[in-house]
Amino acid sequence: MRIAIISDVHANLEALEVVLADIRQRECEQIVCLGDFVGYGPDPNACVDRLAPLVDGRRVAGNHDRAAVGKLDITFFNPFAQAAIRWTQRTLHATVQQYLRDLPAEWSQDGPLPFLAVHASPRDPIEEYVLDAATAAASFRHRAFAVCFHGHTHIPALFLASGGDVAGQPFLPDEEVRLDPQLRYLINVGSVGQPRDGDPRAAYAVLDEEAATVRLFRLAYPLERTQEKMHREGLPAVLAERLSVGR
Ligand code: ZN
Repeated sequence: MRIAIISDVHANLEALEVVLADIRQRECEQIVCLGDFVGYGPDPNACVDRLAPLVDGRRVAGNHDRAAVGKLDITFFNPFAQAAIRWTQRTLHATVQQYLRDLPAEWSQDGPLPFLAVHASPRDPIEEYVLDAATAAASFRHRAFAVCFHGHTHIPALFLASGGDVAGQPFLPDEEVRLDPQLRYLINVGSVGQPRDGDPRAAYAVLDEEAATVRLFRLAYPLERTQEKMHREGLPAVLAERLSVGR
C-alpha cells in the first residue's frame, strides 16, 4: 500500500489542493496528517473540513492546533504567530474546534512496515524541534520505534540511527530512499503550507510499504492567491511574504 504523509498544512488551502491532486494521481490509498492543520494561513475551516474525511482518523495534533483551541499557552510563540492564532481562534467553526480539540498526540500504523506518527518528536510529540542529530538521538533513545514520521520544523530531513550512532541528512525531492531494516529512521516530511527550507514549493512524502521506500515530492502552487487572502483577512504581512521565499 502507498501512504501519503503530509504535515504542517497551516490553513493553506491552495497548497493543500495541489498536494491532494498529486496524492490522487499517485494512487495512494491512505493519507496520514502530522498536525498543524491550522495557524498562519487564511483557510483553517476549509482545510480541516477537506482533510478530516480523507485522513479518517490517521492524524495527530500540532502545537498550533492545540493553541488554536486554548490547549497550549502561546506566550512563547513569536508575536506574528500569536496574532495569527488569535485570528484563527476567532475564525474557527465549532465543529472544527471540536475536531482540533480531539486530536491525539501520536498515532501508529501496523502492517508490513509499522510506523509511528507525531508532529514534533517521539520524545515530545507537540513542541520539540528536531533540527540536528543530537536532538534526534534523544528521541531514538526515548522510544523503541523503527520508523517515525514527523514535521514541525517545516524542513524535510532524514535522521538515521544505527545502534547509538545517529546521522542527519537532507531529504531531497524525488530521491527514492530505501528503508534498511537494520537501521531506524526519523523522517521529517516538510510542510505543505509553509515550507522553511528555502524552497517555497509544498512538500509531502509517500511511503510504499511493500517496497519499503519513501519519497519526497515538491509542488508549486498558486501562492499569490493565499497571500491575497491573508492580506484581506489582516493576517501579519510577514507571514504572507515568507511563502514566496520558503523561509
Ligand atoms: Zn507547523
